[in-house]
Amino acid sequence: MFNKVLVANRGEIAVRIIRTLKEMGITAVSVYSEVDRDSLHVKLADESYCIGPASASRSYLNIPGLVSVAEVTGADAIHPGYGFLAEDTHFAEVCESSGIKFIGPTSETISMMGDKVRARELMVESGVPVVPGDEDGLENIEIAQKKAKEIGYPVIIKAVAGGGGKGMRIVKSPDMLKNAIQVASSEAKAAFENGKVYMEKYLEKPRHVEFQILADEHGNIIHLGERDCSIQRRHQKVIEESPSPALTADQREEMGKTAIKAARAADYTNAGTVEFLLDSNDNYYFIEMNTRIQVEHPVTEFVTGIDLIREQIRIAAGEKLNCTQQDIEFKGAALECRINAEDPDNKFRPSPGRIDNLIIPGGPGVRFDSGIYPGYNISPYYDSMVAKLIVWDLDRESALNKMKRALEELKITGIITNINFHQTILNNDSFRKGEFYTDFIEEHLNY
Ligand code: ADP
Repeated sequence: MFNKVLVANRGEIAVRIIRTLKEMGITAVSVYSEVDRDSLHVKLADESYCIGPASASRSYLNIPGLVSVAEVTGADAIHPGYGFLAEDTHFAEVCESSGIKFIGPTSETISMMGDKVRARELMVESGVPVVPGDEDGLENIEIAQKKAKEIGYPVIIKAVAGGGGKGMRIVKSPDMLKNAIQVASSEAKAAFENGKVYMEKYLEKPRHVEFQILADEHGNIIHLGERDCSIQRRHQKVIEESPSPALTADQREEMGKTAIKAARAADYTNAGTVEFLLDSNDNYYFIEMNTRIQVEHPVTEFVTGIDLIREQIRIAAGEKLNCTQQDIEFKGAALECRINAEDPDNKFRPSPGRIDNLIIPGGPGVRFDSGIYPGYNISPYYDSMVAKLIVWDLDRESALNKMKRALEELKITGIITNINFHQTILNNDSFRKGEFYTDFIEEHLNY
């Protein structure tokens, strides 16, 4: 097992990882930018090092800086968290060649899955269903028109290197196609330095159902069930839950097997997520694989009782999975609300600033993952998600009631948050009945 691990991240996920490292008796090294000096992840780590100014490109994305800290401190491994360098092939390669274990899959797998077109091709070859689509020749509008007609409108244009819902455009009719390709491509170029786009059939009223995978370095792969992440705003997740209210036990078993097949095809190791869209006829299609720990991993931890960060570290250290698929039991229902410093009444504009007071909800089955505390200053430089509120109970209805109660207890003053926005969703009848799709927020809420 590792003696020392460097956490190449900040905020709630850095805190989350440090907690498990401490429980495992591993020394936790944290890094921070100049504006993050007073962050909780710095306070909780055993050792902390400043790696540059506020701008992420000069701190949390500074590969030579991170690797130097790992080398100087004698860290055996780096945990990248999510975002920043978590899915950066070059970073994983540099770690591999420097003899520092990257806690995640190999750079080769990251590279393959990070190219959504290659990932789609691999899935087709392996017999995993993908959304009907096409990836070639879109730069020629005549060819693109012909392909869109074959696939059938509406179609969606997506970035090959996409993530976070960026570089996506829905096209309802042929006259909108040219513009959509151009806009998606320039958005993708700005966000990912890669303007390549591809086309998929746009599924109407799908659910986003993703499977958590664990794969060790000895060929064993299991799945830990699904998360329903259909409650989204601009293709970004807002509330996630497990189990999905839409799946039967048989469907779970079948989709879980397909997710394992997808992971095997990618030579996958460590924790990963296979994302599917489920249509109204119960057909499901692979859309992408995320090669890292996900924001929403705690709902899976609640229903399975497995610490996913601990499993990631154990796998990276070369240990075998300590359970088989048959050992995995799903118990109760869990929900997660992403708490963001943003103003829902003002187009969800970010609302950084100083937190005056913070009251954290508690009680059985309530978990609050965050990096904030009273007096903490939320800087405008990073993502607006400041906390995650996760609850568990024996069934979905009890979990919904618990989440409502916990959101009521949660008080964050000094900044504007989306707490009331979550309450609005939780009070919605369709949501409560489990009848919702990825267009839920657009369709039901006045935001
Ligand atoms: P990203 O990597 O940017 O998150 P994904 O491919 O994971 O992109 O898709 C994010 C979300 O966008 C999905 O959960 C879904 O809501 C929507 N989406 C993506 N592809 C399609 C599609 N073919 N049809 C309908 N919705 C889609």
